[in-house]
Amino acid sequence: LHAYLERSVNFSIVVPIYNEEDNIAELYLAITSALDTTDSDYEIIMVDDGSADGSFSALKRLAAQDQRVKVIRFRRNFGQTAAMSAGFDAASGSIIIPMDGDLQNDPADIPRLIDKLHEGYDVVSGWRSDRKDTFITRKIPSMLANALISSLTGVHLHDYGCTLKAYRREVLDGINLYGEMHRFVPALASQVGAKVAELRSITGHACMAPASTASPGPCG
Ligand code: UDP
Ligand code: MG
Repeated sequence: LHAYLERSVNFSIVVPIYNEEDNIAELYLAITSALDTTDSDYEIIMVDDGSADGSFSALKRLAAQDQRVKVIRFRRNFGQTAAMSAGFDAASGSIIIPMDGDLQNDPADIPRLIDKLHEGYDVVSGWRSDRKDTFITRKIPSMLANALISSLTGVHLHDYGCTLKAYRREVLDGINLYGEMHRFVPALASQVGAKVAELRSITGHACMAPASTASPGPCG
């Protein structure tokens, strides 16, 4: 719409949002406080994937108070990959950083991801090497999934499940995402020649038992 007002930014944070009403304010604070110490110009693209709670109102309020926040809204729930893909398409940054909206990723890790990218990579994938999953039911399936994806794609990452990554935008331009494919983007990118690195010690607030069993906790 206001294309003439748009300018490109250094980087775009892309966050799929599905029923994250209670997390949005804290998420915004965490992102801005992590990035405002750097002198980078950035935008935050929040994609409301058909939330049934007050997420969209919360996002609209943020966008009204901070022009760096851009909101996309789906009419119904299309899933995390579709939401992320719409965010990638709308992003104007030369570096694109997807992350989860449920406070399971820590935006304080973003400057390190970007530093790593600047060492000469096209994709830097987060690795939650200190992850403390309490539930074996989460750890074993994720180990099996990692082994399977490694052998199928020939790209050996420790942690395909970590949403927090940094991409040079050219890497994403040629990739169409569908299904649950967001996990495989580094592998797809590598197959077309992208240099992929992994960055360890990425914070992953794993699924810890919620303090009160009445609330679902941060694990969607
Ligand atoms: N999400 C989404 N659409 C969905 C399900 C999830 O946009 O249909 C968002 C969700 O709000 C969160 C991110 O995708 O920001 C990751 O979702 P979730 O926490 O459910 O995934 P997990 O942590 O279990 O991999
Ligand atoms: Mg989650």
